[in-house]
Amino acid sequence: MEPHDLETDRDGTPTPPSDEELEAFTLGLQQEILANPPFRCGISFHWNGSQDDAEQVSFHVQLQAVLLRRESPWLDFSSLKSIVFHADYEQGLRDASVRAGRDIVPTREPGGLSVAMLVHAADGCELVADAGLARGLLSQGTAHSDVSVSTLRHELCHVDDFQRKSRLWNNEWLKERLQGLRQTFFPMAESLWSEYYANRVSDGPLADAYLTGEEDMLAGAIRDAAQEIGEAILAYRFSHDMGVLAPLARRKVSFVAQSMGYVLGRYAARGLSAPRVAQLRETLQTAGLEDAFTRSRAELDRLFQSRASWTSTEDLAELERIWFRVMSAFGLRFEEISPDRVYVHVPFSQPCE
Ligand SMILES: [Zn+2]
Repeated sequence: MEPHDLETDRDGTPTPPSDEELEAFTLGLQQEILANPPFRCGISFHWNGSQDDAEQVSFHVQLQAVLLRRESPWLDFSSLKSIVFHADYEQGLRDASVRAGRDIVPTREPGGLSVAMLVHAADGCELVADAGLARGLLSQGTAHSDVSVSTLRHELCHVDDFQRKSRLWNNEWLKERLQGLRQTFFPMAESLWSEYYANRVSDGPLADAYLTGEEDMLAGAIRDAAQEIGEAILAYRFSHDMGVLAPLARRKVSFVAQSMGYVLGRYAARGLSAPRVAQLRETLQTAGLEDAFTRSRAELDRLFQSRASWTSTEDLAELERIWFRVMSAFGLRFEEISPDRVYVHVPFSQPCE
């Protein structure tokens, strides 16, 4: 009999860890949670789960944070003030709105269903999540568990990103009143960056199933934006009501930016650059966004590499310029007359840029 290779079988597949190895690994994680907890904030539950369920969920959340930190040791979750799981997610967000002093509204764009959100405040952030996410963490080894773990990892990466921006941008981005073109394009660039970062850092084998869905969501967001903005432009020709057209275009293009962030983050984590599927490639081409896709990817990668030396919200200026051109591709050209006056041109022919 040949000696058995402990690391891999002869066909190269890893041997599953023994019970002893698994036990030692779990024990190591438990000790790490006790000795160096990834965060110390409380977790509250507004649901009909038992105390035991709640304790298990709390443990799983700590566990996922420790695992993430082992993969990416720079991760810092210390700005997390609290985690709330709510059976009525919308109510959870309304409660958070009261605490934050402003309206927190999840995206309602088609395909953009939200189950968890990080609420920013000057003194830290709060994670509000649907109780379904907590239930998913309890149903180990199922599709529900996979999506819950992936969502939780994604949100925890938002915490680290929030912490970095608060530190390096000195909170100016939360207080600063944006003016001129920045009022429109900074939030877009910031949302693109945030989703890119959260998906890039949280990506893992469990998320294999989501890439196709994210590519579909981006293609869908682009088609929806093109159609809705196109129709709103036609209506504008008669109404001359920019108060309807500009907010709609802002909302639609923002959702395209957010969706592109998901895809580009996952692409970056997996070493992909060009659109992987024909449908996305064609949609980008039709909308004139191939260049924006390539340039956003390159600029996001540059920002990722240099993220430790960011200094101000101006760090995102190049992304803002790219998305200014995206807005033009959808038919609206913004022009800053003065910091408090922006004129929006709606040319009859698509600008060639
Ligand atoms: Zn996100």
